[in-house]
Amino acid sequence: MKLVVLGAGESGVGAALLAKDKGWEVFVTDAGSISDKHKASLEDEGIEWEEKQHTMSKILQADLVVKSPGIPDTIPVIQELKKLEKSIVSEIEFAVRYTNKPIVAITGSNGKTTTATLLSYIFKQAGVQVGLGGNIGTSLASLVRKDNYESYVVELSSFQLEGISTFRPHIAILTNLSEDHLDRYEYDYDKYIEAKFRITLNQTEDDFFLYDADDKDIARWLTKLDIKAQLIPFSGSKALKQGASIDEDNLEVHWKKNHFTMPVSKVKVQGKHNLKNAMAASTAAKLLNIRKETIRESLQSFHGVAHRLEYVSKIKDVRYINDSKATNVNAAYYALDSVNTPIIWIVGGVDKGNDYTDLLPLVNRKVKAVIALGINNAKIRKTFRNNVAQFCETQSMNEAVKQAQEWAVAGDTVLLSPACASFDLFKDYEDRGDKFKEEVERLNTDILTK
Ligand code: ADP
Repeated sequence: MKLVVLGAGESGVGAALLAKDKGWEVFVTDAGSISDKHKASLEDEGIEWEEKQHTMSKILQADLVVKSPGIPDTIPVIQELKKLEKSIVSEIEFAVRYTNKPIVAITGSNGKTTTATLLSYIFKQAGVQVGLGGNIGTSLASLVRKDNYESYVVELSSFQLEGISTFRPHIAILTNLSEDHLDRYEYDYDKYIEAKFRITLNQTEDDFFLYDADDKDIARWLTKLDIKAQLIPFSGSKALKQGASIDEDNLEVHWKKNHFTMPVSKVKVQGKHNLKNAMAASTAAKLLNIRKETIRESLQSFHGVAHRLEYVSKIKDVRYINDSKATNVNAAYYALDSVNTPIIWIVGGVDKGNDYTDLLPLVNRKVKAVIALGINNAKIRKTFRNNVAQFCETQSMNEAVKQAQEWAVAGDTVLLSPACASFDLFKDYEDRGDKFKEEVERLNTDILTK
């Protein structure tokens, strides 16, 4: 049987290697260039590949096509394959055909990585061999290739969910919904939401769907859809008899005979949004019979993931926080919400059609200075200049952090939470966050050497 893989990134190469192990004849094709690392892995396994082109005659021989999530349906190759009614699946769909271990799948606009990493941390603390992957780090196909795990925790983007047909997670988590990546969905928010809900497509009454009960869009869609899985809500704003919520000062999970409780003050990750991530992860862990004590200890020691409200340093009584992964307005909202001191806010980058209105009340209340950081700061300037005491525009992290330090007084927080993508001035959000940390580190050394 012949398998063609379109796109040779992490997931495409993962699928190719898994397929080869399972006896498929594999051909990998990428319209761009393939990294040396990936070429080497393909060659080690004797897998045929091509780059910077798509040879149609070879592609059309496929019995099955695996399409990488970055490739839109509109490109001619896909159109042609569809005309010929060839089966096209995503790497996730292909990978699950080769494992029968339970899968927890996590999607949503924000909080996927944090929730997935926390849940896999709880598993590890409990001594469970867990494979963590998907949209973070390793592809699911690469994990399944080894298949020496007892269960999988998979982070999924809407793009990855588009290409599933039989994929059935035992537990699915939808962290929340807010407008993101709309360019791929013809600027139709409903289409994006529809893709996210595909996570429930093949679930049965034996499975679970955990969702944010405070999210209006999720609530609206739940009334329209016929989801077979058992629905378990979590809420940061109302106490729930069934589901996860905050009651008085405790995080509580109640689901049939499962109960779990711990004081909110003991949860190490900060902010309301992270409490919701903690609720989702602890509910999933409870459903999978992890001991309460282990869940509690894990929530007490898990300090979050780098670049997500990451505490960097305290210099002259000013805290520096790196939230470079806040690439949309909703994430920045929760960052501003979680800080309880006056804020010097570093914001900006590549605007994805942002609507900043929701942020204005928080900005008026907490932000004393805005430092715009981007090649084009016009929209940030227009929206915020008149709402804060101090405003400036910068085009490098060095300038931004220096300015922040000049304006900060003891007790303030300098927060990098850009609400925008990073690729105008940086390689990616990690590069942006790393540069922020370097500059803050430099302030520290400057002080020590003075
Ligand atoms: P994702 O993998 O979905 O991008 P991350 O866990 O990497 O999510 O977090 C991305 C950004 O969103 C960070 O700025 C983080 O602080 C913020 N965030 C995390 N969880 C949530 C949540 N439940 N709701 C809103 N924002 C969140």
